[in-house]
Amino acid sequence: MKQQMTLSIMEIERFAIHDGPGIRSTVFLQGCSLHCPWCANPESQRIGSKLMYYENSCVKCGKCAAKCPQRAIEIQGENLIFHREKCIQCRTCEKNCLQNAIHFSGVDMKIDNIVETVMRDLDYYEESGGGVTISGGECFVQFDGFLELIQKLKKKGLHVAVETCGQTALENIKKAFPYIDLFLFDFKHPNPEIFHQVTGGNLEIILKNMEWIAKEDHNKIVIRVPVIPEFNDNETVMRDIFCLVKKFKVQNVQLLPYHVFGINKYKQLGMPYEMAEIKSLTKEDLIVYEKIGENLGLNVKIGG
Ligand code: SF4
Ligand code: SF4
Repeated sequence: MKQQMTLSIMEIERFAIHDGPGIRSTVFLQGCSLHCPWCANPESQRIGSKLMYYENSCVKCGKCAAKCPQRAIEIQGENLIFHREKCIQCRTCEKNCLQNAIHFSGVDMKIDNIVETVMRDLDYYEESGGGVTISGGECFVQFDGFLELIQKLKKKGLHVAVETCGQTALENIKKAFPYIDLFLFDFKHPNPEIFHQVTGGNLEIILKNMEWIAKEDHNKIVIRVPVIPEFNDNETVMRDIFCLVKKFKVQNVQLLPYHVFGINKYKQLGMPYEMAEIKSLTKEDLIVYEKIGENLGLNVKIGG
């Protein structure tokens, strides 16, 4: 019997209203081809489980440390120290923590189970003109499973959106294109060197993919620009982005203000947050860019 394919997922969010039209379920896949320092889902950057420690729930009872076969948890005074390099992900600590202060993010889920889960909200999709969005991480990273998933969702008659940074082989875009109704295409910076330096991405690949999709159907793309202080938060860069978008005949742009909602996740994962000193932007901060885009003839919306 053929083994069912699985996808490594971070979570499935029900009743999402910012990831495409109507009421949606958003499936967040693990794994990303970039490493943006402002990432709000750092636990999704690599495929596989991550130990997350919720310090505020911890009563420092020491059960996890006592049971850990690797001695990967140490109590130092009032603090719990995780020696993550020793961890073999046996999850003994998670099972023994009565406070739910330890949790492993990321699960492998059979594709049919994902489809079955999102189909539970079919009535909401139908009533609101919604559907399912595949996000991440970067959904094209687990390409074979992702393709099977969107094929199955389309077969169920659902509206399928994907949120992507666009960094994947053009062949993958071509194979997935018939099963995608809407690309929420993240675009972060028009300068290839700056973009690569900050995110590790390859702008040439991304632009080639964006151009191909736009030529096939420019109405299938919404460009999403996370506006990030000290990176792209200035009029010159925004104007350059808008001009690129216009060149590809794409009409719709969403500007997403930088926020620090993900900062606690970095603490829970034991990861440094490089942008701790940088304040969140407000919707009002982006009005100036909205006007620039509108003057260039684009439909610009602040927020997703
Ligand atoms: S078992 Fe849970 S509550 Fe107890 S020290 Fe470990 S994490 Fe904290
Ligand atoms: S998952 Fe296992 S090895 Fe890792 S910290 Fe918990 S008990 Fe220790």
